[in-house]
Amino acid sequence: MFVTMKEMLADAREKKYAIPAFDVSNYEMIKSVIEVCEEEKSPAMFMCLKADLENKGIHFLTALLQEAAKNYSVPVCVHLDHATDFNDIKQAIDAGFSSVMYDGSVLPFEKNAENTKIVVDMAHAKGVSVEAELGHVCDAIAGTGEDAMMGNADAKEENPEDSLTDPLEVEKFVDITNVDALAVAIGTAHGVYRSTPTLRLDRLDEINKISKIPLVLHGGSGTPDDQVKQAIARGITKINIFSEVLNGLNTGLKDKLNNIQNMSMWPIFVYEEANARMREVIRNKIRTFGSNGRV
Ligand SMILES: [Zn+2]
Repeated sequence: MFVTMKEMLADAREKKYAIPAFDVSNYEMIKSVIEVCEEEKSPAMFMCLKADLENKGIHFLTALLQEAAKNYSVPVCVHLDHATDFNDIKQAIDAGFSSVMYDGSVLPFEKNAENTKIVVDMAHAKGVSVEAELGHVCDAIAGTGEDAMMGNADAKEENPEDSLTDPLEVEKFVDITNVDALAVAIGTAHGVYRSTPTLRLDRLDEINKISKIPLVLHGGSGTPDDQVKQAIARGITKINIFSEVLNGLNTGLKDKLNNIQNMSMWPIFVYEEANARMREVIRNKIRTFGSNGRV
């Protein structure tokens, strides 16, 4: 049994730490996250993206995640990341996900609120939590992150002022939708940064004063630790991580494969370095976000 995001974030908000939420695409990533969470006594939040769930991928990944929950003692939440399609959300709920994100951030306010409310009604009926996005977190380099994957190829680079979350819209959005957590645009971006981001902590302060529900930061990879800690102190309770773990996985694999002659080597040896590098990233995030020792 998975726990909901709502439960996990309530504790984080009260005690002022953040849950590291890791996008996972395969067994190696899932195993690395659950093992390090267990070692660090941190709640484990897994996220899945549409591309990995297609062609029955949802059944394979859900089975692996259920085994993670069954064989380790830390609480596990399984969350659908960045869904834009009601059918994908229904499929995730039916597969047993305990949390979903509906991303209507490129839509006008009214339409985003209307669609989010539909998802909330559908999810809450099954005891599933919902995250929504207000303002829009762009791709750091256009065409390389979630925007590109979701078909927003014309989305602008960087994070222009008009994509930031408007604090004046927050209360109305939460009241209309009854959503459980809100992703905010405060200067982070998806993917790999061209230059170091500067978070709009002033904007976050304003939003946090108004918001009755926990706040989420996307584009956590590559954001400097000191800024992340300040964001947590100002109300961020969930931070999404993908690119830094992928970097560990891919550089580890590349280095290993460049240094062996035997191309029939077993995967457990081929993946050794990749797993070690992913584990290091995961552990650093857990400790930076303060989710260690919370279980
Ligand atoms: Zn995101």
